[in-house]
Amino acid sequence: MEHRSALLRRGVHFALAILCAFGLVAALPAVPAQATNYEGCSWGHPGISYVNNTSSAYQSLTSAALVNWSNQTDMSFNAGGSNPGFSITDGGFGNTGWDGITYYSCSGGIFVKGMLVRINGYYADAYSGQKKRAVIGHELGHVVGLADRNIGQCPNRSIMWGDTFGRYDVCGIFTVQADDIQGANTLY
Ligand SMILES: [Zn+2]
Repeated sequence: MEHRSALLRRGVHFALAILCAFGLVAALPAVPAQATNYEGCSWGHPGISYVNNTSSAYQSLTSAALVNWSNQTDMSFNAGGSNPGFSITDGGFGNTGWDGITYYSCSGGIFVKGMLVRINGYYADAYSGQKKRAVIGHELGHVVGLADRNIGQCPNRSIMWGDTFGRYDVCGIFTVQADDIQGANTLY
């Protein structure tokens, strides 16, 4: 009973969640990157405010990932605000099957403030710094409004490749790629 009511409360708070797996996915289409996949929601303006609540092992890596998106695209992540667009944190969330997750709500095509990004230390604490960046940068792409995109081969994959194995272990991608830039600049 207790468990059920907790789930219901969570359902009220978060309309949708994007789970990002850490492992291998099965059938991968061998199609070159052509267009971006979108979540169907954006912020409606290029400035996205955030609070970085990550622990010391993730703090500077998160900052670098935020700067990467801001410098490479027409949108910008801005620190601070009493009612930020999103917050990012890390923690030991257990054997969930995801190393990163983004909880969001969308109303009339516009993201609702208070989006939440979690990095799962259960898996990611053992990752190298660059591999942590690969997870953080991917989740930030969801914050921007981009969806998972499992298309293309190295080096033409997007940071929005859905699983960290195919994104980082196979291709070494931990920063925004041409496809991601195009997608963000289409939204903003
Ligand atoms: Zn994802």
